[in-house]
Amino acid sequence: MKLSIVIPMYNEEGIVHALFQRLEHTKALFNRKFGMMPTDIEIIFVNDGSSDGTFEVLKKLCIEEANYQLLNLSRNHGHQIAITAGIDLAKGDAVAVIDGDLQDPPETIVDLYGKMQEGFDVVYAVRKKREGETPFKLFTAKLFYRLLKKLTNVEIPVDTGDFRIMSRRVVAVLTAMNERHRFIRGMISWIGFNQTGLEYERHERHSGETKYTLSKMIKFAFDGITSFSSIPLKMASYLGIITALFGFIYSLYVIILKLFIPKSHIELGWASIIIFILLLGGIQLLALGMIGEYLGRIHDETKFRPLYIVEQIYKKDE
Ligand code: UDP
Ligand code: MG
Repeated sequence: MKLSIVIPMYNEEGIVHALFQRLEHTKALFNRKFGMMPTDIEIIFVNDGSSDGTFEVLKKLCIEEANYQLLNLSRNHGHQIAITAGIDLAKGDAVAVIDGDLQDPPETIVDLYGKMQEGFDVVYAVRKKREGETPFKLFTAKLFYRLLKKLTNVEIPVDTGDFRIMSRRVVAVLTAMNERHRFIRGMISWIGFNQTGLEYERHERHSGETKYTLSKMIKFAFDGITSFSSIPLKMASYLGIITALFGFIYSLYVIILKLFIPKSHIELGWASIIIFILLLGGIQLLALGMIGEYLGRIHDETKFRPLYIVEQIYKKDE
């Protein structure tokens, strides 16, 4: 198998037909440009516990069409885990990951593959332009990637999602990294070898709406930061040092006032007391929360549960 294409699908029944057409078109392009046969390319759909008709439509497709497979998960495991499950199953020398909503054009995989032949292990697709996304999403995404860059030592490329192609040796390492809170684009950067980006235009969703709700996005952002940086933890100590220093200086000031300047009415300091209590309480809770975020993740890791549960794999009988 020369190429595997992994596609996570969550409540995308309205897209399957169009997606199939585009994948067939992509295969034709691969044939024209690289002389690949249909049997050289396997398509792996991962149904991530969809609650609409996605499963039925995909199952029908994969049972009828050769070189299409459906990996059906037992419930919704989330985008990153769905991708992981698909990559684990993939047998290709090169493995491409692409969203199923046609925001990322499947034909771009041909370009990614071409670039890879120049001697790269990972070619990630960089969003040049994003159509049909809310200003809020664009703004938060931008903010998040810049923040992540500041907080981590790993070079995680800006404006890239999980749309990319990678070589077998990268896939082998990725499969061995069985951490639970996965931030795959960061993990792949961490692996190293020769990586490069290729620009493309990100389109509007073909149909349906985004499956990344605000709460999922926040959780994802936390996963990204905590997986690659312990700076938030260190920030707790820095904040502690600064407030302790400030507290010490202020105590000196109060003692001096009390002892040497009898006319200073320091018992009138209700406002300052309440401000300090609230401020310190806030800082303490924030620091505790940061520790909690990390502790919770350690707790999840120590359970050693499987990352995902497969219901069944559906494909055409040979
Ligand atoms: N997805 C998934 N599980 C989820 C959420 C999303 O498999 O819990 C899939 C979804 O079907 C799509 C891809 O992940 O193929 C990207 O999701 P989406 O388009 O909603 O994200 P966005 O493009 O808005 O960031
Ligand atoms: Mg999308």
